[in-house]
Amino acid sequence: MKMADNSLRVSLLVRFGLGVAALLVLDALACYYTALYFTNLVYDRWLIDSTRSLTTAIRPQDGRVAVALRPDALDVFRFDEIDKTYFKIASKNRGYIVGDKELTDLIAIPNGEPRLAYSKISGRQAREVTIQIRYQDIDDVVTVSVAETLFKRAKLTQEILLAMAAPQVGLLIAAVILSWLSIARGLKPLTDLAAELEARDHDNLSPVPLTDLPHEARVLVLRMNDLLKRISSALQAQKRFITDAAHQLRTPLAVILLHAERAERATDATAEKKALAELHVSVRRAARLSQQLLTLARSEPNAIAMEAFSSVNLTAVARQIGEEWVSIALERQIDFGLSVPDQLAIVRGNEQLLGELLSNLIDNALQYVPANGSVTVRVELRDGVVLSVEDNGPGIPEAERARIFERFYRVPGTAPEGCGLGLSIVKEIADAHDIEIMASSGHDGKGITFSVRFPNVAKGRI
Ligand code: ADP
Repeated sequence: MKMADNSLRVSLLVRFGLGVAALLVLDALACYYTALYFTNLVYDRWLIDSTRSLTTAIRPQDGRVAVALRPDALDVFRFDEIDKTYFKIASKNRGYIVGDKELTDLIAIPNGEPRLAYSKISGRQAREVTIQIRYQDIDDVVTVSVAETLFKRAKLTQEILLAMAAPQVGLLIAAVILSWLSIARGLKPLTDLAAELEARDHDNLSPVPLTDLPHEARVLVLRMNDLLKRISSALQAQKRFITDAAHQLRTPLAVILLHAERAERATDATAEKKALAELHVSVRRAARLSQQLLTLARSEPNAIAMEAFSSVNLTAVARQIGEEWVSIALERQIDFGLSVPDQLAIVRGNEQLLGELLSNLIDNALQYVPANGSVTVRVELRDGVVLSVEDNGPGIPEAERARIFERFYRVPGTAPEGCGLGLSIVKEIADAHDIEIMASSGHDGKGITFSVRFPNVAKGRI
């Protein structure tokens, strides 16, 4: 796998490594203080013993304190390769008796117990022990101090620390290697998934198999498959639309071209006028077809899902669309009626598409009803809201009603105007609103009534 800057593997490892390193620092500190504690314990004992051995050289003699130090006893103090050792014996009555004058006594405990503390001798850090001995009979108090510099202790602490740290560094390295391998193992389903997606053809939108995927990746892949499914059906719808549109536009455009050529070639004014009138009709047809194709593209369930639904007042929609068709109905001498309640008829939907649905139904009715016929647009509040367009035209045979909603289907024998898209647009819009479109014969068995019923309704006066 290519190691990207924001690689999950690296970031997991860095986080884990930092956590382990922080723990190791804490552990090293703990080790250091433990080492220091035991080093001090051992050397302090030795220092106290040395101080005690010095006190054995002191005894009262002839009414005063006398110190009899054997040279080999002193060698014990002096002989040290690493540290410098100091000692001093002084008494209340005699003052300084023997030893290193620069050694300042600690404030001792007057009961013969050793007093331990850090001190400074000739500018160097040292550990010092002071013991005080009281001689009642000669009324004197002797103070014995021994001190040594700290190099031995520091050296031993360092050695202990090193001995402890070396395996821990090894442990850290082993932990990093192990976690690198485990992270790689844990991320394998994802890298496999990436490899599989990379190896796919660009037009392969089939779902990714869910086998052997851990829960977290499974959720991701499920969402991805969801998305792939939606993209795939949107693509299919788009492909279908482009094929249909290209196919359907070819004929009217060829007809327009034909009429335009005829108009150009016309030798007299009458022939030219006729050709221009035909051209006008074919241009109108092509315009209607383009409008219908665009509506169809917009009313695809996939496209419509993206558009927001809101509360729509169907009474207002019926009034507005009805008004748009009044003049055409008049021109065709059709009795065009609008019957709406004086109440709000609220449904959930897309106002523009519902307008298109109604427009297509009215368009058909006005087209197929002969002059002097009638077309009525109704909005009724019964069991929800029912929107219908009723006409008393030729109607549609029962046997044909199952197919009229298919794209480009026209009842055989229907006049040439139209391309069979109007009702499929109506159906797409109805489907997108999850409602059913019904076709039934008119009141007296004549004509046809198309209706849709919306379930949810909120009533109120306009
Ligand atoms: P178009 O009207 O462009 O042919 P449609 O999809 O709108 O396409 O209609 C499909 C067919 O249904 C039409 O060809 C026509 O035969 C029939 N049809 C639709 N509406 C009516 C109607 N109001 N009266 C009679 N026939 C109709």
